[in-house]
Amino acid sequence: MKFAGSGGVKFILLVVIPALMTVAIMASAIFNIIGTMSEQTNAIAAEKTELAASAALTSFHDQNRKIVEDNSNWDEAVRRVYGKVDDEWVEETWGSTIATGLYDYVFILEASGSAVSGFGPAGRIQEQADTIIGRQPIAALIRKAAAEKGAVAGLAGFGGKYYSVATAPLVPTSQDLQYPKDAPRYLTIVLQLNNKRVSALGSAYVIDGLQLDPLTTAAKQGVAVADIEGMPLAKLTWIAQQPGDIVRDKAQAQILSSLAVVFGVLALLLAAIWQNGRRNAASQAAAVYAAHHDELSGLPNRRQFGKLLAEAVKQPFALLFIDIDRFKAVNDAYGHEMGDKLIRAIAAGLTTLAPEGSVVARLGGDEFGVLLTSRDSAEEAPHTANMIIAFMGQPFDFDGRVAAVGASIGILDGRHADAPPDELVRRADAAMYRAKKTGRNRYHHYDPSLESERHERRRMATALRQAMKANEISLVYQPYVSASSRQIIGVEALLRWNSPELGHVNPAVFVSVAEEFGLIDELGMAVLFAACGQAAFWPGLKMSVNVSPAQFSNAAFIDTISAAMARAGITGDRLELEVTEGYLIDEPELARALIYRLHDLGVAVSIDDFGTGFSSIGYLRKFSFDKLKIDRSLVEGLMTNAEAQKIIQATVLLADALGLQVTAEGVEHEEEAMLLRAAGVDQFQGYLFHRPMTAEAVTKLLSATSADLQAPSAAAAA
Ligand code: C2E
Ligand code: CA
Ligand code: CA
Repeated sequence: MKFAGSGGVKFILLVVIPALMTVAIMASAIFNIIGTMSEQTNAIAAEKTELAASAALTSFHDQNRKIVEDNSNWDEAVRRVYGKVDDEWVEETWGSTIATGLYDYVFILEASGSAVSGFGPAGRIQEQADTIIGRQPIAALIRKAAAEKGAVAGLAGFGGKYYSVATAPLVPTSQDLQYPKDAPRYLTIVLQLNNKRVSALGSAYVIDGLQLDPLTTAAKQGVAVADIEGMPLAKLTWIAQQPGDIVRDKAQAQILSSLAVVFGVLALLLAAIWQNGRRNAASQAAAVYAAHHDELSGLPNRRQFGKLLAEAVKQPFALLFIDIDRFKAVNDAYGHEMGDKLIRAIAAGLTTLAPEGSVVARLGGDEFGVLLTSRDSAEEAPHTANMIIAFMGQPFDFDGRVAAVGASIGILDGRHADAPPDELVRRADAAMYRAKKTGRNRYHHYDPSLESERHERRRMATALRQAMKANEISLVYQPYVSASSRQIIGVEALLRWNSPELGHVNPAVFVSVAEEFGLIDELGMAVLFAACGQAAFWPGLKMSVNVSPAQFSNAAFIDTISAAMARAGITGDRLELEVTEGYLIDEPELARALIYRLHDLGVAVSIDDFGTGFSSIGYLRKFSFDKLKIDRSLVEGLMTNAEAQKIIQATVLLADALGLQVTAEGVEHEEEAMLLRAAGVDQFQGYLFHRPMTAEAVTKLLSATSADLQAPSAAAAA
């Protein structure tokens, strides 16, 4: 034994003690380092959650601010609200919305803060607004709105409850409409920030157990939030996520067990610490980066874009808001992975196309922004937009899977830069929306008239929502006839809306409003049920129903059809759906599958407005339609335009070859009918034969016609 006797002492002195000391020192060092590390990790996590929680609340206020903003710049409102308030109108316009949960109270306030009209969940309220949210918050809110001459929103606390309140002075959009400028009234909405709303907000921002508590709360993690005047009022709290603690606990257990296998484990731990430290430093840098950048594309995100924009407005600039057309279809058809690839490919393409010195950012799911900052960016913008449109119009090929998308672009330049960055982006977004509406693959410049239109459409949507509840909407039926016998073979159901406020509204207009504001499913379903119910009374006739693309792409659509037919007790062969080609081009696979399923039910599908779109004929081949409706615009040109004649002739030939029936709509003159018949059209629809009419009128017409038919034979028999 070499270390026996003095050798043992030597070992203890030279090896064990230094080793134990090393272990002890190392161990305490390790505990320290791990402690710091876990604290840092916790701090980063907490900071991130704090940001998210504040952002959640801010965006909530913002949403409410937008609601009052949208509703307060409005001539009609100015007429109704100043002087003697038209309470009935206020109730119909704003009070009734309370039932939808958009807000809890709405007040029209004087500059003094006293309410001249108010509605709550139980209808009209007599008491003043300050019994609900307190005098001081109201005064602060109005002060702020008056100072900013526009909509403001913020947090208010009263009676142990918290509220998001928003207000805006009611002002006309027309210059020439008079109103008491120096004594404006304020449209004010109040939403209680109850547990349900706050935790819903939390789920949207992925914050566990988000709550709004008094400032004095003992919650471990939280962030103070200020009232309208910027004074701390309450605390947003959540269930603390402490990822650092998890790391620490794990590491400690490891050290304790590894004290037994001293040096080896020490070495391992050292390596682990070194690595952890590195990772930690990297993750801090990553957190900063992540706050400013979009993970998927690596581009600056919306927040960062806003910051850069705030800088850019001091010099000439132009802003492009780009939305990918049909992105959702690609995602649905090929999966998210392909969607992600597409986003990256487009991000790379935009970065290449954008002129030097400009910023490309990802603003949202399939939205990008390009900020041009050169001296002639206003002139450069359309040029850049065109290049982007050309680039995105090319099919993207990923290992043989082809994604055909496109781009709609809104352009905003320095002429309309008198607003904060958020608002500028929103304006460019509005211009983009217009580009999309007018046919996609194009750009549109922002101009303020877009706002009043948007306002009109929003207003129409509100009215439509009410009209649907109030049964103001009805169907009329326009018969169509056989081209040879001229007898009625079917009817097309057409929507009618006679609004007390807006008068007769063109169905093409309110249908598109319904599509934009998410009302089309409900409206379309009502149409289907009503039309099927009516079809049961006219056993000999086909019932044609117009179906909007949004309905067609709803997965539950087939079930709605079956349910409507079952309720009415009619079979599928009585029903015919009219669809326009736009949707088919957007989502060809879905459309094809749906048409097959409809055929299984015996339901026929016709392509509507044929001749108005592009590349129509190629599409006919791809889908198994039963019928084709030649659009009124082609029929209209028939007598004067040789081109229209040729198109119609070619269309009929093609339809024949594919075994499709052909209907011509909008036939107004006998000459047109003759020409169309000569071309081989099977059915006519138009004012020459019948105008759209009520169900009773159709029934009367049917009985008159059958009497007519019987009359000659009765005469012959006599
Ligand atoms: P559409 O499907 O092309 O319907 C034919 C339109 O042409 C109807 O206008 C009809 O009244 C009109 N029309 C028919 N014959 C003649 C004619 O000889 N001369 C003239 N000048 N016009 C004629 P309406 O009822 O205003 O409908 C407009 C559009 O609104 C429809 O166009 C359709 O796209 C949409 N729409 C109507 N009802 C519904 C519906 O229930 N659902 C959906 N999604 N859209 C509907
Ligand atoms: Ca139609
Ligand atoms: Ca049409």
